[in-house]
Order: sequence, then structure tokens, then C-alpha cells
Amino acid sequence: MTRLLLRWLLFVLPLGLMAAAAPPLAITDVTVIDVVRGERVGPRTVLVRNGRIVAIDEPATAVIQPGMRRIDGRGLYLAPGLVDMHVHLFNNSSGRPPNEWAFPLFVANGVTGVREMRSEPAEIAQEQQWRRAVEEGKLIAPRVLAAGVAVAGPDAAAARQRVRIAKAAGADFIKVFSEVPDSSWRVILSEAAKVGLSVCGHVPAQVRLLTAARAGQRTDEHLMQAYEACSTKESDLLAARQRLRGEALIGLRDTQEREILQTFSQSRCEELAAKLARIGQTQVPTLVLPWSEANRSKSNPLLDSRWRFLRTDEQARWKRILAANDDAELARERWEVSRKIVHAFHAAKVPILAGTDTPMPLVYPGFSLHEEMELLADCGFTPAEALRAATIGPAEFLGLSADNGSVAVGKRADLLLLQGDPLAQVENLRRIRAVVLSGRLLLPRDLGISTEAPLR
Ligand SMILES: [Zn+2]
Repeated sequence: MTRLLLRWLLFVLPLGLMAAAAPPLAITDVTVIDVVRGERVGPRTVLVRNGRIVAIDEPATAVIQPGMRRIDGRGLYLAPGLVDMHVHLFNNSSGRPPNEWAFPLFVANGVTGVREMRSEPAEIAQEQQWRRAVEEGKLIAPRVLAAGVAVAGPDAAAARQRVRIAKAAGADFIKVFSEVPDSSWRVILSEAAKVGLSVCGHVPAQVRLLTAARAGQRTDEHLMQAYEACSTKESDLLAARQRLRGEALIGLRDTQEREILQTFSQSRCEELAAKLARIGQTQVPTLVLPWSEANRSKSNPLLDSRWRFLRTDEQARWKRILAANDDAELARERWEVSRKIVHAFHAAKVPILAGTDTPMPLVYPGFSLHEEMELLADCGFTPAEALRAATIGPAEFLGLSADNGSVAVGKRADLLLLQGDPLAQVENLRRIRAVVLSGRLLLPRDLGISTEAPLR
């Protein structure tokens, strides 16, 4: 996509943005994408003022006031900005600065909202400051719609205390990881419920996916423990993990992976899907992660045109990780099973949202959300369903649908102006003509935006 748009965002726009309040906008004669119904509506004239959508009218009756900036929407489609439900903006384990380099990449790709998956309590204030700066037009970045603080244990008292610290700092949810022991995980769930926070993240390596769903863990990310749950050996595999802790636990899980994948059972997977759908636990499968791993040998990442967008410390990290592990066959098997699982989950109507885990190696900020939606389409999602998984779905999940997630009067003006119909094919979401962020039009002057070819 959008190399020109990106260059424009990176170098030209910030200066102009700082200067003055954004003029109100009138996007005329545009086809509005109603993501809730999965329908095209229009033509309509959409008015934007002070960061909000203030009117959506038939062109003949729309009142365009003097001073409004007119954008000719003929032949174009207006969709809500996209939300990536699984991103990392901080580098706490390596101590590197936050991933602010990723901000313009998100926005140029139409990602106007993100869910941050591993903040330290002290970083919540930084996220709130970014949010304000985006509102005020001082920063081109996606809105941090929710931020989670990781809680691990190691023991019950420490877990409890960390949940309280997270709450006091303003966390939106608690994130759990694979290595959290079963006993601590139960403490985290009950303590989080007491302070009014949900628990999201990896279903821990000692816990069955259905157990976690029934106990109220609100999401499972990366299909963690779904692979096990679809294996005919689930009970034995999990039994062997019960006494282990930390690295030993994760080490055994990783050693078991080939067997887990090779004992995949379609019928077990479908039974699991039906039960999960009844319970309603949300899945954020981050398909782009196993897909990238399975396909990485096909291209040299250093030759990827997006490589230069990475900050140099990030390039170094990717190189290090990519050099360290490359079991191509295992990666292919993991991808094939991931696909089958998401296919079965979708068919059973398990709630699924679009997230990427960017910036994991090969998972580029912004770009990867398009890949994720295209992969969801490969798993049976209609274009409207894939679009919902990155717009109104996240907004409803986060309790923010009064302000976000669709093109509707009163909502935030975080919008995509597209050259192709995203309900015809999800790849058209890459054909971004302009982005509206907090009511500000981000439009390349020469409109010569080249669009990247779809994945397949
Ligand atoms: Zn993650």
C-alpha cells in the first residue's frame, strides 16, 4: 500500500497538524459501509466536526456549512477505522523505548485503535497521554482503546497484590501468560473479579481451554491450549505439565507440540467449538503469526519493502529471533492446524476478533491487520464478518461501541476512505485513499497512492 501516503504522514503532516484545529469535513456522495448490517448505504454526505460524525444525510438534503472542507466521495467507500486487538507498544523485557515508530504505520494502514497487551502499571499514564495527544491532533497514532497489565504470580499473595496495583494504575484488564501456574491463575481470576477487571490472555499451559472459558477468562489469545483441546491426547499432555513451573513448564509444552499437532482431531475440535460458542469466550487467534512463520522461508525479510520502516533496534531483534529458530516443517503443521481450528470455531459461531501480536518478527504494524483479516476470510469469514472482527466487534467487546466501531452519527470520526468495496472483498481495505483520525483528514496531496497486491 500507500508508500506515498506513508511518506506524507511521516514527514509532512505532523508539522501541519500541530498548527491548528482541524477544519470540519464534508465527505460528499460517498457509499457508507454499515458494518453492523454488512450493507452499503448511499450515496450519503457525511459531516465531521470536532472529531465526531455529526450528520449522515442524503446528498440532496445535506447542509454543508461555509468553512467545511469538501471531499468528493464519489466512487469511494467510507468504513470505520480498524482496530488491532493484540499489539505490543512497550519493550519491557529488553528495556528499549516504546514502539512509537509503529504509530504512523498503523495509521497509514487504517488502524486507528489498538488493544495493548503488556503494559507495566507505570506505563498506563504514558498511554493516557498518547490518547489525549491523538484527541488534540498532536500525535498521529492509533488510540489505545484498552491496556492490560501482566500478572504472573509467582505465589498467591504476589498475584493478588499485582492485580491491585494494576487496578490502581488504571489498567483496563489483566493479562495472563502460559507460564502462570494453575493455582495462581485461579487467584488472579478471583482477585480481578473483586476489583472489577476482566482477565484476558493466554490460557495457561496447565489449564484446559474449556476450564478457562467456564471459569470466566474473557479471551484466549493465539489459540493457546486450543491445540491441546483438539488433540486426542489432551488429558495426558496436560497431566505431564502439572508439577512443572516457569521455563521447565514452557519447555515441556514446546517439546510436546509436534505430538499435539499430529494428534489433532477434527471431531474433537468441532465439539470444542460448539461448547466454546455456548460459553461465549472470545478468541483472538492472531493467525498472522503462525502464517508468517510457515511462509517465512519463501522470502528474505531483509528484501521486504517494509523492512526499512522498522526502527534499527527492532530490526536487530527480528534478525536475532529469525536466526534462532527455524523448524519449517513444524511451522507448516502449526499453520495447517491453526487454520482448521479457526475454521471450526467460525463455523460454530465462536466470537473471534482480529489481532496480530505485532511487532513479532514478520508481523508488521498495520500491514499485518490486513493480513489477519484476509486469513480470517480464508477460514470462512465473509468480508462483512472479517470487517466486523476489526471494527464493531472490538468496540462492543471493549464496551466502547457508543463512541467507536462504526460510521454513525455521534461516534468518533476515525474513518477510512477506500477506493474499493470492502464488502466485495476484504483486500479492498488495503486500497486506502485517506484516513480520518479524530476528525482530521490525512490525505496525500498527489493522491498517487499505490496499493500493495493482496496476499493471494
Ligand atoms: Zn502478544
